[in-house]
Amino acid sequence: MGFIKVIEDYEDFDFYNYFDGLREEDILFSIKKTKKTVKDFLNMLSPKAIKYLEIMAQEGKKLTEKHFGNTVMLYMPLYISNYCTNECVYCGFNKKNHIKRKHLNFDEIELEAREIAKTGVKHILLLTGEAEGLVDFDYVKKSIIILKKYFASISIEIYPLKTEEYAELLDLGVSGLTIYQETYDKELYEKVHLSGKKRDYLWRLNTPERGAQARLNSITIGALFGLGDIYREAFFSGLHAHYLQNKYLESDISLSLPRMNKAEGAIETVNHLDDKTFVQFLLAFRLFMPKIGLNLSTREKQEFRDKVLPLGITKFSAGSKTGVGAYTSEDKSTDQFEISDKRSVEEIVKALKSYGKDIIFKDWELIV
Ligand code: SF4
Repeated sequence: MGFIKVIEDYEDFDFYNYFDGLREEDILFSIKKTKKTVKDFLNMLSPKAIKYLEIMAQEGKKLTEKHFGNTVMLYMPLYISNYCTNECVYCGFNKKNHIKRKHLNFDEIELEAREIAKTGVKHILLLTGEAEGLVDFDYVKKSIIILKKYFASISIEIYPLKTEEYAELLDLGVSGLTIYQETYDKELYEKVHLSGKKRDYLWRLNTPERGAQARLNSITIGALFGLGDIYREAFFSGLHAHYLQNKYLESDISLSLPRMNKAEGAIETVNHLDDKTFVQFLLAFRLFMPKIGLNLSTREKQEFRDKVLPLGITKFSAGSKTGVGAYTSEDKSTDQFEISDKRSVEEIVKALKSYGKDIIFKDWELIV
């Protein structure tokens, strides 16, 4: 049945009524408890818990140091095609948008890979739109074979695949899967995915599980903040990670809290997640699941990223570009969304070192 059963269990749950009835001592008790329950997690996410951010931050810092030391892993994204047959209203690559499209051939992919590898970053995140007949499985596989020559670890953020396809990619050297549900609210999901294969809510919801069943080493999930109710999205993202963590012991599970950024042709943010609540959610994730990976991308501003870093972040993107061919060509395509932290890898490394962070360029390599 999968994670959908967990979501259905909360169908009639009135989150705001529950939050209203919470007492301050319930929240404090939940923060301090050693082994936390789902109810403790919900208490820490509640609007009233924002008052206790300082205590949560101290606990979060301690837990992160205990399980991850002082390390942070750097990665870079690589977009290989922005053709897409889906119609996601929040994305610049939406098929209805009249943007500059680009689809890299294998020589161009190799050029981009070589350029990124010069920065010293060894973890690459491969991204592409979903375009049947153009961005097919074979194209993805051949791209991975090229990337394997330059990087120790390859993760993918592409359209959902079958379990056996993930297993095939694992054999080629893919170790990680990033797949965002965008929104856990089924009705809203249909409203923001107007056409294309991505309209299938359940197929997408079960994707992380298929990746874990194929024994991918790391799975990153989350909701896109800006669409649905922020408290519900945070709750179900955390619960989803918790479900995967308990069921698939061989995969490292990570969470990300991407917030909608401006993108050509995309809708504006509907439910804004402010900086303070972002930090609260991040800490609630850490306190509820001490061993969860937490990812912070260049969607966020430089000052904010640097401030949040010590509170539990374990993965940090650097030098990111969201256009296709953007690392090597002036004639790049339209970006998927605007990057906020525009620092180069070198500048980010320098900043992280000044905060005393041990930077991991390569933590492990999948030998195939
Ligand atoms: S979010 Fe992904 S699937 Fe949707 S339009 Fe953008 S690239 Fe295509």
